[in-house]
Parts: sequence; structure tokens; C-alpha cells
Amino acid sequence: MKYLDEFRDAKAVQRVSKTIERTARHPWNIMEVCGGQTHSIVRYGLDRLLPSEITLIHGPGCPVCVTPIELIDAAIQLASHPDFILCSFGDMLRVPGSSGDLLGVKAQGGDIRIVYSPLDALDIAQGNPDRQVVSFAVGFETTAPTHAMAVLQAQQRGLQNYSMIVSHVLVPPAMEAILSSPGNRVQGFLAAGHVCTIMGYEQYQPIAEKYKVPIVVTGFEPLDIMEGIAMVVAQLEAGEHRVENQYTRSVQPTGNLEARRVIEQVFEIGPRTWRGIGEIPESGLRLTSQFAHFDALQRFADRLSLSIQPTIDHSECQSGLVLQGRIKPSECSSFGTRCTPEHPLGAPMVSSEGACAAYYRFRSHEVTEPMS
Ligand code: SF4
Repeated sequence: MKYLDEFRDAKAVQRVSKTIERTARHPWNIMEVCGGQTHSIVRYGLDRLLPSEITLIHGPGCPVCVTPIELIDAAIQLASHPDFILCSFGDMLRVPGSSGDLLGVKAQGGDIRIVYSPLDALDIAQGNPDRQVVSFAVGFETTAPTHAMAVLQAQQRGLQNYSMIVSHVLVPPAMEAILSSPGNRVQGFLAAGHVCTIMGYEQYQPIAEKYKVPIVVTGFEPLDIMEGIAMVVAQLEAGEHRVENQYTRSVQPTGNLEARRVIEQVFEIGPRTWRGIGEIPESGLRLTSQFAHFDALQRFADRLSLSIQPTIDHSECQSGLVLQGRIKPSECSSFGTRCTPEHPLGAPMVSSEGACAAYYRFRSHEVTEPMS
């Protein structure tokens, strides 16, 4: 398949790994901030093709995993009420809140609809005028344009029964939080190609300069990731810290200007709590005052007596350390025993982009998928 098979070519991947081997003269720690990249690395065993000098660190690249528990609790409260229909991506249903998850609410009769596009929720709202339809808007910059478009279309259609719980997070502030944290080990980044497809990569330049780290925009296939690592290593060995673009088949420097315009029309930047990590300034999106009437938390705060309190993860879950790359999932004492995809203690074991789920799926029996 064009644009797929050639990026999973084992011989091409091995050639790049040899280049990295020849280039790397010092130990370097490189972080990917994308759950899709984490899954590719673990699935294809890419980290094991690297010389011992190179350590890959998995970052907070799973938006479902960093959605704060208090917002999941809010979604559970609303979905439990017969007047409401909650629309969500399927990944969110098994993510634990402070007590229970959305799948449990659905099993007890809660009306929770899994949607594949945020725009599907608009048709559901139109078809159910007597009920309130709430969209759980989760994701990085990648899904923000369609959630913003859903708000604009809801306005156009005059839908009075549509609102959303917004939990969008932004990647660059998280990278800065990691780089400025005490004991940071990260010396270079693979930036997420899908995020940069929307936002471009100009905003990474000040980070590269301030913290003197190379940042390479990278795709998701094995060859993409190996090339991204090779580009980061070449810069590190040369003492450089630039932003480069490996994912040229998708990413332009300024991204998708129309998508960015839609985001800026509907959302503004604000503080955001990242589950397991804490609040990161200016790292989230919220509805602007013009669209605040679509904010479900504001709209139903009195009616449902929502008291959204910050809550903490299960005491055995070390997802905060996993999300910051301080431990590997397999180093968590509950991994594969008390915590499995069937009985997850934390979000990274649930989400298809979670690092713990990747390790469980591809490393718990030490079998990795062969490339073509
Ligand atoms: S393995 Fe489970 S308990 Fe451990 S950090 Fe991951 S999600 Fe949390």
C-alpha cells in the first residue's frame, strides 16, 4: 500500500539504524510525545534496533491518559442522568474516574453513544430535541478543529440541546514542563507528526532555542521514527538544536491554516490539569466567552449540583511517572498483575495510545510484530 509499505520496510529501517550506530558517540535520551509513535516503537521493537547510547523515553503523548479524573467524573454524572446523552470516542469509556467508568454507566442504562467524529453528535442532538447531548471533547491539537467545527455548526443549526466537556491539551507547553522539571533527562524530542499537520512547527523553535534541544517533527511508521531519531542524534552529536521536519509528506511549517483559524475562532488557551502530572500553565483549550454557552460544565453546574473536585489516581497506579518518562510501564509493580487491560488501574493501560497498553500488548510475552 503506497505511503505505508515503504515506511515499514525492514531493510530500510535497519539501514537507518546502522547510520544511527555510526553517528552516536555519546549517550542521549530522546522523548517521543505521541502515543501512536510509542505504539510503533514497542510494536516493531525499534528501541531494540538502536545502539546502547540511545535511550528512548515515552512522554505524555496519550490525550485520553491525561484527561483529568474530575472531568471523567463530570461526564459520568451527566451520563447517569436520563435527560442526557453523552457522546464520546470509544477510548474514554473504560478510563477509570474516581469511582467507576463510563462503561459501567452504560451497562446500567446510561445513554452513552460512541462517535467516530465529533460532528456525529450534532445529528444525535437534532434527532433528540427533548434531551441534552453532551460531547466529551478530548484530544491534542489534532482533534480540536473538528470539535471547534462542531460548535460552529451547532450554532448555525440553532441546536439548543448541544454542549461539550472540553479537555483539549496542547503539546508544546507539556514539552516545556518536562524540560524545566527538576531532574529532566530529555535531550531531544520527536514531535508528533499529526499535531504538527494541524499546527505546523514554528512554535517549537523558541523551545529548541531556550532549552537547547533538537526537535524533529516525525511520522508514525517504523521508517519515519528511525529517521526522526537519526536526525535528532545527528544534531546532538553536532551540538545543534534546531527544529527539523522528517514528516514532510504531511507537515508544512505553518500547518493547516484553515484548521488553525477554526480552533482560534472557538477556543482560547488556558491552564489545564494533566492527569498524573498536575496543572501546566497555558496547556489547554477552553471555549471563548462567545461560545461559553456550549460549555456543559457551566450550563449544568446548578442543575446537577456538579462539584468537580480534583481527585487522584488509584494509589497503586504510577501513571504520572510513566507519562513523564520517569519509569517504563513494565517497571510499575502492578503492571500485568493487578493492572491489565481487562482490569485497568490507570488510563495508560486502557487507551489505544497508552504506553502501559502498548507494553502489555507487545511486550508482556516479548513478541514484537515483524516488519514486511
Ligand atoms: S501499569 Fe497500570 S497501574 Fe501501573 S502505571 Fe500503568 S496504568 Fe498505572
